[in-house]
Amino acid sequence: MTDRSDPRRLASLRSFSQVAGLVVACGGCLVLIGWVAGWGLLKSIVPGLVAMNPATAIAFILSGIALRLLARPERDSPHLRSGLAVSQSGLAVSPPGPAPSSSGLAAKQLLWVRTCAGLVLVAGLACEAGAILGWQQGIDKVLFRASLAGNQMAPNTALGFILCGAGLLLSADGRRRAAMVAQIFWLLALFVATVAVLGYAYQNVAFYGIGSFIPMALNTALAFAIISAGGLCVRADVSPMAVLVSRSAGGRMARRLLPAAVGVPLVLGWLRLVGQRWGLYDPIFSGTLLVVATVVVMTVLVWEMAASLNRTDAELQRAKEHAEDANRAKSSFLANMSHEIRTPMNGIIGMTELVLDTPLSAEQRSYLSMARDSADSLLELINDILDFSKIEAGYLHLESHPFELRERLGDTMKSLSLKANKPGLELAFRVAHDVPDDLIGDAGRLRQVLTNLVGNALKFTEHGEVVVEVQGAGWRDDDVLLRFAVRDTGIGIQPDKIKAIFDPFEQADSSTTRRYGGTGLGLAICSKLVEAMGGKIEVESRPGRGSTFQFVTAFRLATPSKTFAAATATAKAETKLQVLIVDDNATNRLILEEMFSGWGIQAHSVASAPEALDELEHADRVDSSYTLLVTDVNMPDTDGFMLIESVRHVPAWSRLPVIVLSSGRRPEDAQRGADLGVAAMLLKPVKQSELHEAIAACCGHVGDGQAKAPTVRSGMRPLRILLAEDSLVNQRMAVGLLEKRGHQITIAINGREAVAAATANRFDLILMDVQMPEMDGFAATAEIRKLESATGRHTPIVAMTAHAMKGDRERCLAAGMDHYISKPIRSQELFAMIEGLFSSAVPKWDVPSHSNTDSAGPIDWQTALATAGGDQHLLAEMIGLFLVEGPKLAGEIRSSAASGDANTLRRAAHTLRASLRYIGAEAAAARAGELEQQSATTDFQSLAPRVEALERDVQQLTPLLKQFLASCGGSADHASTPAT
Ligand code: ADP
Repeated sequence: MTDRSDPRRLASLRSFSQVAGLVVACGGCLVLIGWVAGWGLLKSIVPGLVAMNPATAIAFILSGIALRLLARPERDSPHLRSGLAVSQSGLAVSPPGPAPSSSGLAAKQLLWVRTCAGLVLVAGLACEAGAILGWQQGIDKVLFRASLAGNQMAPNTALGFILCGAGLLLSADGRRRAAMVAQIFWLLALFVATVAVLGYAYQNVAFYGIGSFIPMALNTALAFAIISAGGLCVRADVSPMAVLVSRSAGGRMARRLLPAAVGVPLVLGWLRLVGQRWGLYDPIFSGTLLVVATVVVMTVLVWEMAASLNRTDAELQRAKEHAEDANRAKSSFLANMSHEIRTPMNGIIGMTELVLDTPLSAEQRSYLSMARDSADSLLELINDILDFSKIEAGYLHLESHPFELRERLGDTMKSLSLKANKPGLELAFRVAHDVPDDLIGDAGRLRQVLTNLVGNALKFTEHGEVVVEVQGAGWRDDDVLLRFAVRDTGIGIQPDKIKAIFDPFEQADSSTTRRYGGTGLGLAICSKLVEAMGGKIEVESRPGRGSTFQFVTAFRLATPSKTFAAATATAKAETKLQVLIVDDNATNRLILEEMFSGWGIQAHSVASAPEALDELEHADRVDSSYTLLVTDVNMPDTDGFMLIESVRHVPAWSRLPVIVLSSGRRPEDAQRGADLGVAAMLLKPVKQSELHEAIAACCGHVGDGQAKAPTVRSGMRPLRILLAEDSLVNQRMAVGLLEKRGHQITIAINGREAVAAATANRFDLILMDVQMPEMDGFAATAEIRKLESATGRHTPIVAMTAHAMKGDRERCLAAGMDHYISKPIRSQELFAMIEGLFSSAVPKWDVPSHSNTDSAGPIDWQTALATAGGDQHLLAEMIGLFLVEGPKLAGEIRSSAASGDANTLRRAAHTLRASLRYIGAEAAAARAGELEQQSATTDFQSLAPRVEALERDVQQLTPLLKQFLASCGGSADHASTPAT
């Protein structure tokens, strides 16, 4: 309210206060002169009316002086300056100049005000008490005993001075609250005065006199009215006066209505009275006239007010529309900025990645890596600012789609594992066994929050661990509530900073940016995102000990269920596996133990290599040997590889399957692992699915547990891709990335060319830039889809957009696109998208899991898949090659055996044997091996039955292999074109 008061109006009101003080003081003096000189006119204004008592006149003189001092002009009175500063900014500003009091008045001035006001209050109280108790003493008696003739201060006059004295004292206090209370006293004084004036106007003595006491004089009533109005105006910057002076619609309305509300009944009533007295009309007529006149005047007033409010409403509406326009302009500016900044960033990052993949000197590589890291940080900053602005502008919209919690969380943690590559720092995640896996929600936003929180935790932790834990937290209707906690053992946060770090651009201490970098936006974004997901981030932290950030959010279940147990029902395997876990980190041991117990597998864990060797020995002694060893690589003293070396030296354990978990991928580790016969090397933090897959590969089928059957995503078949993109830089980057994966790229530089190319040729995938000259991506897509409707074909189209605003995704999908990725294009994201698109588009390849061997017997599919590194596409390529090469080699063997060409026979048998092993045809491979060995023989005739049998084997395999290829949707032709 105060911030809308008009300083000029306040200043003029204060001037009015001064004048009021002066008038009242002068009036008091005149009355005293009247008493001294015996002039009745000065004493009572109207001859014959009650005269103002001399004590009353003295009290008015004191009140007038006090009020005038209180409202001194600005240049004299620091108080005024303070009052104005308060009124304009709402903040008390201490004025310059000689030491002011809390009220802003000079000390001497304040003393005068207080003294005068105090005397007025005391006089009021004394006269009131005198009137009640019947005392007849007072200054009036002392000064004018002879001429008083019974005149004394009326009780309502004494009450008026009590109110004025209190009002003056409180107004001089300077504090806002005191000034507000002072206004109440001034209003009461004004009320007393108005009632008395009305009493005189309407000649109703009961309004200005009390009982048998001498009534209040008319000039007294007028003086009270003037001084209390002045008192109200001295601090008009505080309520209730502030409402009246405000520039708001309320203030305007009050200023118009108040005079009417007071004046209209007053004037009409007075006219009625006068008319009646003069006999102009009778009481019934005048009463009716009064009512009609009041109704008319009030109706006009209300109408006028309503019209004024309507105008204000219209102004507000215009202002709102203006603000919305400005907001829209801001958003579109943001979208354009996003486009303008991201497109060149796209070029910088992409080109740097391409150059980094070429042969470079160590120095060049290090410089370029730094350039790429800087570009990455810049992009991160841009993304943060864009994200934050989007959220602030109300553009945050959560998506809802099904996702697998463990897999998604695992992928997120994997992507962070590189950051965790500090010695002595473990990154782990644990999803409680009873947490459902198939959820519906915005996995992307969840990932963003966790990436931020874990990223911070890793940044601020040098030793120990960073652990993400997910637990059930109950139900909200049919939604499951999950608690996500990110716990670290890092530097922690000072208690007084905990609230601030969630504000934008806030960091716990200023040295943080210097040491750790960062923008201070991460937590602000996270807390807004979590709020949008219906939760709230909470922090517990102990400086030097670590922090825990946690939040609870709700997700829908893909398969509705109301209990954790039902939602996570698992089939446990009947398995004889006995697993020994070795890890120095207790959290990791716990997590691994939980995973195994989830699959119904017995697992025991130890914290070091020597303990592991003791445990293996002990188990052998009690006849309950371990069948699988899972060990961490990075352990103090004896590391994982040293442990495996010791294990391999013991004959009984030389073939014990071993799975190795490591925190970083050093190139030499892979060789070392292979030399030690390690079954699988997994990068920490380990996903349930990959551990499951690794165990299945080395130990056979494991229970379902919660791990889904692994989906093989790598090893894509080469695709024919149409790239519609007008920017040369983007073209070169996309081509560079895609060709490296063996894909064949055709370029179209605008939408029209893209439509022409898609009509003339058949593509597996179209990457479509959205903004292109001549015809944009949306129009081109619509055109292609129209053409396709005639053929029934559907080529996947992926939009590439630099837009970051809401609605882009919807527009892309509405235009008939299947997917969209945002620029700058990151290689990982691009390949993940393509692989994701094709792994779901191509029917899953059905490798029989119930039996390792093909129903006809000749092929061991599991071995074949394991040989191909679990890569089904690679296996298909091998099969394709075999279908071409196999019969040829068999023919060569036959002819060389017939002609006695030992060398050709040996080479062909050797090659065929290797090919047969690749495709899991072990029995046939063994036959080829025998022929290879017997190729040294001189008796080629004796080889004939074996040669024939081998040919039959190859013939028998052919339909099975073709059938396999057909079942997976690929063609032999396709599969036989190996990726380059
Ligand atoms: P940024 O990390 O970019 O500076 P954030 O908003 O993510 O911005 O974090 C704000 C501040 O909160 C950080 O600068 C840091 O001082 C403090 N902080 C956040 N997470 C942690 C943590 N896990 N341990 C200690 N301090 C933290």
